[in-house]
Amino acid sequence: MSTDTQNSTSWNWVGRYVAVIVVALVLGAAIGSMELFFKTTVFGGKLTAAQLVHFLGYGTALAALWMLGQRSTLALQQQNGRWSFLQHLILPVVTLIVICSAYSVILLILRHLLNAEMINIYNWVFIVGIVACATWVVMAVLGQSASLTSAFTSVATEGLGTSGKLKVCVACDATNESIAKFCKQCGKALD
Ligand SMILES: [Zn+2]
Repeated sequence: MSTDTQNSTSWNWVGRYVAVIVVALVLGAAIGSMELFFKTTVFGGKLTAAQLVHFLGYGTALAALWMLGQRSTLALQQQNGRWSFLQHLILPVVTLIVICSAYSVILLILRHLLNAEMINIYNWVFIVGIVACATWVVMAVLGQSASLTSAFTSVATEGLGTSGKLKVCVACDATNESIAKFCKQCGKALD
């Protein structure tokens, strides 16, 4: 199918982001477990170099994950396929995952630098952020529920092998329903 090959070439960069995430996690964990880094301290003995390396490795992975979400959103905005509705869902979901993980990653460092009262303030900042982000996810799902339903029902009909074939416009490459006579994007007659 021509649409499949198109997607695989234009989504190659996803692999590069995934590679950065994996390498950052592995290096952060591996270097951070070396004895040299455990023995060496920074910030007047409050932190070990190992904790700093863990923070940098996991922090880089989270930053790359968020950039991957942002870039996917941009790529989906340029496509008009069946999955284009995901452009409104990816960023809220990825942001929620990143904020929840960032809480623990930043705490790796702050735990040793702040007192209990400051940690409590830090916790509240994240509680507010996570609740706001969860609300964003719910609103995005509500806003896209119609597109979600149509995407999953068209997957189901394609799975059954009945009239599910989509038409790809020769002029602009937009994907159209099998019954469409004209392209929804550029208006060119299909067939
Ligand atoms: Zn077209």
